[in-house]
Amino acid sequence: MGTGHRTTDVAIIGGGPSGVAAGIPLARAGLRVTIFEKDKFPRFCIGESLLPHGNDALRELGVWDKLENAGYLRKYGADFCSGDGSRTHRFWFKQSLGREREYSFQVDRASFDRLLLDHAAEQGCEVLEQTRVTGLKDPNTEDMRLTYSGLEGEGSIGARWVIDASGRSAFAGARIGFRRSQTLPSRRVAIYGHFEGVERNTGKAAGHIAIVRLREAWFWFIPLADGRTSVGVVVPTAMVNAQAASGSRQKLEVVFRKVVEESSEAQRRLARARAVAPLVATGDYSWRFSSFAASRILLTGDAAGFLDPVFSSGVTLAFKSGLRAAGALLKAEAGGRALSPSEQAGYTREMACWMRHYSKIIRLFYTTGGFEVFMSPAPLLGIPKSIGRLVGGETTLGIADRLRLWVFRCLCRLQEMIRIVPVIRSLR
Ligand SMILES: Cc1cc2nc3c(=O)[nH]c(=O)nc-3n(C[C@H](O)[C@H](O)[C@H](O)COP(=O)(O)OP(=O)(O)OC[C@H]3O[C@@H](n4cnc5c(N)ncnc54)[C@H](O)[C@@H]3O)c2cc1C
Repeated sequence: MGTGHRTTDVAIIGGGPSGVAAGIPLARAGLRVTIFEKDKFPRFCIGESLLPHGNDALRELGVWDKLENAGYLRKYGADFCSGDGSRTHRFWFKQSLGREREYSFQVDRASFDRLLLDHAAEQGCEVLEQTRVTGLKDPNTEDMRLTYSGLEGEGSIGARWVIDASGRSAFAGARIGFRRSQTLPSRRVAIYGHFEGVERNTGKAAGHIAIVRLREAWFWFIPLADGRTSVGVVVPTAMVNAQAASGSRQKLEVVFRKVVEESSEAQRRLARARAVAPLVATGDYSWRFSSFAASRILLTGDAAGFLDPVFSSGVTLAFKSGLRAAGALLKAEAGGRALSPSEQAGYTREMACWMRHYSKIIRLFYTTGGFEVFMSPAPLLGIPKSIGRLVGGETTLGIADRLRLWVFRCLCRLQEMIRIVPVIRSLR
């Protein structure tokens, strides 16, 4: 790529799942699409567990067959466990989603994101790796100017549309004046890495994600096809700050080990485990911008907001928002105009609604009563099925599902007061 000034129709900031999902339909529709990616793929990325409702997006993007042949582990469901190992609740996607969505995949994000980005290039997107977008001038005009810094130096590009798919670094939101707010009250930090030798399920459950809930923290265990397992623990920020005396890498190890010691279930799974690289931490949990669209700029995936990852919803929502953003843009483009205020509000409303469904159930996961009811799924009024649909990545819930989830939330509150299902002692 030469330096200097160039033009494109749509500049996409970020080559992760949401950037690719937005770029492909736009390129197929004949627009010039340029995807800027600051890193060189493949690169390590956390977030390996996909949901069956993301399969529809992968099919729409034309990449499903490539995934089927890439050798990733099939994920037929999820195990939720108490930290002391006394209780396990196993979900099978088939029970709530039927045969056509009975599995998704556990993917090594380094190769998965590479596969997606290559696919976007094949579908007509111009992909510029190792090229970081550094500035945005004249936002929301027909000649926005993005400056970038790449292998061959600095450059700038004119674009009629910008899609911010830059993940949690959220390039555009604050620059165009959107407010950022916290969506979960307590701040948390995730400490994670890839391990070898982690205890696994066998048979059809070998690809299940396991979530292990302690009083103040929770672990994820995501088995990968090459024998490694993604393991992480999510703890209150205060727990990490309390270790501030030790150096930062050491500090993460200390916190991780301390939480493992609190859980016999985590100890069992990690008894013969060895980290293959130093642990990493991510804070800045659960926030969103006040709006996700302006007249010529759309925010997709994590660049719009970030949800606590306990239900593995991130990549699926990233795909859905990328596709939805592309749809909105193409409609306006066909009319030769920018997005109208009602189209901007519609995009924001739809994505915010998806996020709200998840936020509600995530909040319950963090309450003791909520987790106890979640772990005791009586087939009452079809509630487990509705929860299963949400946990499988369904975002357009009908009135019946919403009603059942409302009843579920009431039951969780009741549990805090009068104990309608058995308590989990290690959480009390
Ligand atoms: C601890 C943790 C665990 C998670 N677990 C799961 C899980 O199990 N399942 C799941 O579905 N999701 C999970 N997620 C969420 C998931 O990782 C994200 O939701 C998903 O990757 C979002 O996709 P995206 O395309 O929006 O952003 P990203 O995947 O973050 O991609 C953004 C891209 O933009 C690039 N970029 C950033 N700034 C610039 C710039 N200025 N110029 C050019 N390029 C730029 C970045 O290099 C990056 O490649 C987890 C997240 C965390 C933090």
